[in-house]
Amino acid sequence: MGMPEQPLTHVSEFDPEDEYRPEPEPEPLPPTWMDGSMRIGIHTSTAGSYLNALESARRLGCNALQIFSASPRMWQGGPARVPEVDGAAFRARRAELGLGPLVIHANYLINLAASQAMLQTRSIQAFHDEVVRALDLGADFLVVHPGSRGDARVEQAVATVIESVKQSSKRDYLGNLRILIENTAGMGTAVGWRLEELAEILFGLKDVPVAACLDTAHLFAAGYDIKSEAGLTSTLDMVENTIGLEHVPVFHVNDSKIPLGGRVDRHANVGEGKIGAEAFQRILTHPRLGTIPPEGLVGRAFILETPIDQPGDDRRNVAKVWELAGLAAQAPPAEKGFSMLTPAIKRIQEKTASEARRVERAKNKLETSADAGSSGKEKAHKPAAQKTQPAGKSRKSRKRG
Ligand SMILES: [Zn+2]
Ligand SMILES: [Zn+2]
Repeated sequence: MGMPEQPLTHVSEFDPEDEYRPEPEPEPLPPTWMDGSMRIGIHTSTAGSYLNALESARRLGCNALQIFSASPRMWQGGPARVPEVDGAAFRARRAELGLGPLVIHANYLINLAASQAMLQTRSIQAFHDEVVRALDLGADFLVVHPGSRGDARVEQAVATVIESVKQSSKRDYLGNLRILIENTAGMGTAVGWRLEELAEILFGLKDVPVAACLDTAHLFAAGYDIKSEAGLTSTLDMVENTIGLEHVPVFHVNDSKIPLGGRVDRHANVGEGKIGAEAFQRILTHPRLGTIPPEGLVGRAFILETPIDQPGDDRRNVAKVWELAGLAAQAPPAEKGFSMLTPAIKRIQEKTASEARRVERAKNKLETSADAGSSGKEKAHKPAAQKTQPAGKSRKSRKRG
């Protein structure tokens, strides 16, 4: 039709490309949680079963959640794979509950920036296992900290992180899973507390599906003043100029026990720390941080990693975030009185803590008497970095990365 007739001689030329052209695959439908609504969740416990995390998220009034897929403080925190039957049950129940995104937080021992070859190899292996389990569970995001550089220069550490992520994850089998590199508070020699460092890591991983997770407590402790209105605007501009807000699908919403620029990672209940409720209201209602395009990002999630000191702290923090976001009326209903921390668990925790304190006291006593005998020399040799660690840094606050 309207085309000049082709000379007959060309017809016999067979091009296999012309033989069969499959229809292009239809664009896969976006997951149901990408419905434009705001996604709010909390880190939930998988103790007993992966399914328990889903039920806790539901009972706490969440529509998204974060979990660990294995014990976060052990190299062998469980089987490398999730048994297929468990994975299937988990995926089915999550779909039923409409919870999403599912964020998995990687093990804290993983140090993708490690300059020591043994530790790097171990970290790559462990992170690879994280990727595999995340796929087994049908996770949307896998959050990992860049790690610590030790004596290495920042540029070297950034290159090491890029290499480690590349080695532990190959694009072809990641499917819909995206790896999120989280900003840090900049404790010790932690990499990635500056947005520029995070951006360089992401830039070096252009061929891997990566993006960023920004933690509000870490931003604040790293010196980004998200407390004031002007500070939030300039921080968002800096994010835009480095990572790009469209590359931040997940925020960790934690208040900070540490003042601006304190460079220590200690989470507080939302509204009760140095950032404060007013600032969180600004953050949670900011159009650029919302879920409505063009300024917002569809499916963006806000995940809490707040302390649970009293039964109900988890539920109250989730409710607080819905309220500060101005969405209390649309929030999924929470189950009255439910908490991941039951009075019974709290009693056990208190017993363990007092036992730990007793052991600590006994140890200190021994050390003090040893010091007295060696004119305090040992104390003077302790590295400075250790002294800047908060004395009371408990296991609990550590897990809230
Ligand atoms: Zn943290
Ligand atoms: Zn973290």
